[in-house]
Amino acid sequence: MNFTKFPRRNYLQGSTPIESLPSLSKALGAGVNLFVKRDDLLPGAGGGNKTRKLEFCIADALAKKANTIITCGAVQSNHARLTAAWSAKEGLDCHLILEERVKGSYKQEASGNNFLFELLDVKSIGVVAGGSDMTAEMGKKADELSAAGKKPYIIPGGASNPIGATGYAVCAEETMTQLNDMRLVINHIVVPSGSAGTHAGMVAGMAGVNGNIPISGINVSRTKDVQEEIVYELAVETAERLEVRGGINREEIVCFDQYVGPGYSLPTDSMVEAVKLFARTEAILLDPVYSGKAAAGLIDLVRNNHFPKGSNVMFLHTGGSPALYAYMDTFRQ
Ligand SMILES: *Cc1c(COP(=O)(O)O)cnc(C)c1O
Repeated sequence: MNFTKFPRRNYLQGSTPIESLPSLSKALGAGVNLFVKRDDLLPGAGGGNKTRKLEFCIADALAKKANTIITCGAVQSNHARLTAAWSAKEGLDCHLILEERVKGSYKQEASGNNFLFELLDVKSIGVVAGGSDMTAEMGKKADELSAAGKKPYIIPGGASNPIGATGYAVCAEETMTQLNDMRLVINHIVVPSGSAGTHAGMVAGMAGVNGNIPISGINVSRTKDVQEEIVYELAVETAERLEVRGGINREEIVCFDQYVGPGYSLPTDSMVEAVKLFARTEAILLDPVYSGKAAAGLIDLVRNNHFPKGSNVMFLHTGGSPALYAYMDTFRQ
């Protein structure tokens, strides 16, 4: 794929590692060999997947001569944290609109990512009720800033538009190059599926390099049908942007929704188990909202023999560990 056609910054500093997880694989005892792609180790304050997307989104903002970034997310959003981080690095102002998806969950003095927003010098935080029209809320903020003489640029939630998802097509190509270099056969890839840019970009990129490795998404908020449709549409748009021949088949988009629990960001027992298991067997920190629930899905699928014995399965670790510090009580219970 030719990524040089698009404005792009240079945030990556090379490939993220692909590591084997022998202790975790043994602990699960299902004869599946687990591997992890460490996108939690991406550069950007606190690490995580949004750096790949922001490499393209912030470059687009700069190409359009913006001096102010507006984005949105949940109250402990990793995306908001990384947008604030890269904005700070680029000398851009950053404004956040936070959606209180769980009523009463925003606390100005909260730890985790919320504390980092402040440290990274976010210029304003607007908190709106769950279910608000975030596009409209960001539009209002943009009008206000334009009237004050700024040049705002809106990055959608999770940077999950075709511009941001292009960052995960890069990841798919990077992964295939690494697997070829390592002579490592991976039979299946498991990814968290949230605002969908990661999942859709991986699918589009895998098609672009003809990698033919099935990718499954583990949902963190929506039902299977709804999420698969969102991922599919974004994968199709991203593949078009990248001029991937042959396009995307609907059947390639597979999501599992049985690990969401009571709702987005609300803890589940299997998430707590997954976070503890990854920490204690492989010294890898997950997060409570995304990678923890996705890993709970991975673990359950392995235990239930979803993958044939002897398979090599790669988990895409999207990061998020700074959010752990806002959930300490959940893990101490
Ligand atoms: C945003 C996020 C995800 C989900 O990625 P999407 O592209 O929004 O689907 C997964 N893990 C972490 C840690 C995230 O911050």
